[in-house]
Amino acid sequence: MTGRFAASRETLADLLDGEPRYRIDQVWAALHSPRLDPFEWSELPTAMRAMIAERLPTQLEAVRESHADDGQTVKTLWRLDDGGLIESVLMHYPDRSTLCVSSQVGCAMGCSFCATGQAGFTRHLTTGEIVEQVARARAAAQATDRRLSNVVFMGMGEPLANEPNLWPAIETIHHEYGLSARHITVSTVGMIPGIRLLAERPLPVTLAVSLHAADDTTRTRLVPINSRYPIADLMDACRYYLEKRRRRISFEWALIAGVNDTREQAEALADLCRQLRPIAHVNLIPLNDTPGYPVRGSARSVVDSFRSTLEGRGVSATVRRTRGDEIAAACGQLAASVSPPRRR
Ligand code: SAH
Ligand code: SF4
Repeated sequence: MTGRFAASRETLADLLDGEPRYRIDQVWAALHSPRLDPFEWSELPTAMRAMIAERLPTQLEAVRESHADDGQTVKTLWRLDDGGLIESVLMHYPDRSTLCVSSQVGCAMGCSFCATGQAGFTRHLTTGEIVEQVARARAAAQATDRRLSNVVFMGMGEPLANEPNLWPAIETIHHEYGLSARHITVSTVGMIPGIRLLAERPLPVTLAVSLHAADDTTRTRLVPINSRYPIADLMDACRYYLEKRRRRISFEWALIAGVNDTREQAEALADLCRQLRPIAHVNLIPLNDTPGYPVRGSARSVVDSFRSTLEGRGVSATVRRTRGDEIAAACGQLAASVSPPRRR
């Protein structure tokens, strides 16, 4: 059965066999409106609403909601039809919201410092499961008078390992939810074939590459897939994306004390950024704690001097504000586990 949020117009036409075209248009519009429950679609006959609810089921069941930052950061744990668990994180700003979406149950890339990687891979999310996270977040944002303005694929999973399901989801988010391509960010660990594929797709989404180290030895230790897709080849793929898109790429860099926060790493990173036109931007994230990785994030003073080294070499860098770390909702902390009941 197709998930409700991945149903095509053709699927609707089949379901509504014999109904006039305007009905199909009405159902399509209702399906992508913020009214998530078909029983609220009062423009449609009751029997039709009931049929859609039954034949096009939703695929996410909220198991738990955790709040941080005075309610401005909301992490939701979702259960899928097969019992799989994923998380998404909604971050509210004064008049808009950003959603951090999952693309897989777990992740096969095994980055040592990431809670999702530590949990291993279960399966890809379907297009419907990806879009439903966005549909629900948009409704939640609107309920607080905010607009869902950005979607970032920085939740659980490697989006470019699931490109065939990811791309139709991006098209729906763009066409039906009104987000411009630049406000949809795909973050990748550096899957070169996926970057090249994305460069050919019809919408110029924003690309973020999780670099984390500027030499292959250090990077392979942190990001094992680097042994298959080393830095020089990754830079070629980034150049290809830029040629096709003419839009700045950003490099993500989790600062890990004593591992990748030295002056030499900052200088080598600046050289990599300057190889690209326009020069890549750097997002610095002091490493968030995860259960399976003993090393800590860099101290604030080290973060600041790393940033000054980059800026001294003409590379702009932003230090990301960590949101939701007390509810394990920050970058790299999503593990989607149902915590065992506390012993008394
Ligand atoms: N798989 C994709 C997207 C999901 S991870 C990727 O790796 O890019 C989203 C971001 O969180 C990536 O930049 C990732 O490197 C970063 N990240 C992972 N673990 C982290 C941690 N413990 N602290 C800070 N950032 C982390
Ligand atoms: Fe997967 Fe990204 Fe985590 Fe690496 S950092 S294990 S690619 S989710």
